[in-house]
Amino acid sequence: MKQEEQDCIFCKIVAGELPSSRVFEDNQVLAFLDIRPITPGHTLVIPKQHAPNLAKLDPGIGGEIFKVGMKIASALRRSGLRCEGVNLWLADGKVAGQDVFHVHLHIIPRFSGDGLRIRAGPDYGKMPPRDELEKQADSITQALKSS
Ligand code: 5GP
Ligand code: ZN
Repeated sequence: MKQEEQDCIFCKIVAGELPSSRVFEDNQVLAFLDIRPITPGHTLVIPKQHAPNLAKLDPGIGGEIFKVGMKIASALRRSGLRCEGVNLWLADGKVAGQDVFHVHLHIIPRFSGDGLRIRAGPDYGKMPPRDELEKQADSITQALKSS
């Protein structure tokens, strides 16, 4: 096992070396409650195999993580916990707010007055000119072709 994995909190949770409140697992994916929940029922869905970020994650497993996330979102709405809506959140990279470098999808139950706010910068709400959007779309399309 690589040092990166030996030092990883979520690998330790997968291995049962650290406690967790598990809600679902199969061969590839584990879901457990976040230790510092934004709202009660806040769940993390992770690959069992260590991947520090999306670039290192097998896309098939990424699909499984999203499928499990969808199931948990649906279960939360039926669970009796307060859940009038759900946010799925994934931070990829430090600047995006990633603190634990083992990929995880947050499933966050939402309800009116829960206090969670996502604040954008001062430019949010402005509509860039169409040619600017076209240039950005072209850059992304080109990058997709070269991947
Ligand atoms: P990030 O900021 O990387 O998107 O999210 C990391 C999440 O992992 C945080 O919400 C944090 O509360 C949670 N977390 C950190 N350490 C542990 C732990 O030991 N157990 C559990 N269950 N969650 C953890
Ligand atoms: Zn790990």
